[in-house]
Amino acid sequence: MKNVYFSANYFTMNDSPRHQGLRNRLVNELKQKGIQNRDILEAIAHIPRHLFLDSAFERHAYEDKAFPISAEQTISQPYTVAFQTELLDVQKGEKVLEIGTGSGYQAAVLIFLGAQVYTVERKKELFLIAQKNLQKIGMKVKYAGYGDGYKGLPLYAPFDKIIVTAAAPHIPDALIEQLKPEGKMVIPVGQNEQTMLLIEKNKDGQINQSRHGLFRFVPMLRNKD
Ligand code: SAH
Repeated sequence: MKNVYFSANYFTMNDSPRHQGLRNRLVNELKQKGIQNRDILEAIAHIPRHLFLDSAFERHAYEDKAFPISAEQTISQPYTVAFQTELLDVQKGEKVLEIGTGSGYQAAVLIFLGAQVYTVERKKELFLIAQKNLQKIGMKVKYAGYGDGYKGLPLYAPFDKIIVTAAAPHIPDALIEQLKPEGKMVIPVGQNEQTMLLIEKNKDGQINQSRHGLFRFVPMLRNKD
């Protein structure tokens, strides 16, 4: 109860009608760009993205752009977050693994949709910052791991859904293994530009792959640092 009170308080101190207005504008922009899922649009209308960015970028928080966060990484563009989340087709209560916690914003969108979120980040600094960012808005992931996302999270597997938010050179075998039958994974694969792949595992464990456009992500690197 105490936590709930604290987070409600924080919200009113750091969020404002001006921010809400900017979020509504962003939602309209995303609709025009083709995002249709109402729950995802609602998540973006509610989550204060400016609290996930350095204060230097605060006034740009509701532009549809990626921005630098700490450790030379970026918070994904809102369109990309919405697009990946839409492809992932998240249902309430599903266990979702995210690779590349970054600022924690994508995790917040998944939590808003009712997912149980497990997330992994290889940079210590970001692993810590993301927990703080989520705490600011009274949200919590089920489990935040500091480690190498190429390995997934074998202790918590299998997952209904897996979302990778860094550019992978190939689809990591461990992630395919940790996907439930009838599960889905969304992963950008490639070097300079990445193809967004939707990987679907059928009930017999067979994999089907489809392509969903080109994007640019920071690289998925090996090991933690
Ligand atoms: N989902 C984030 C955006 C992340 S940017 C958000 O909403 O803000 C990609 C992130 O992936 C970076 O934070 C980067 O450090 C992380 N990353 C890169 N390689 C990784 C790996 N092997 N395992 C886990 N995280 C990784």
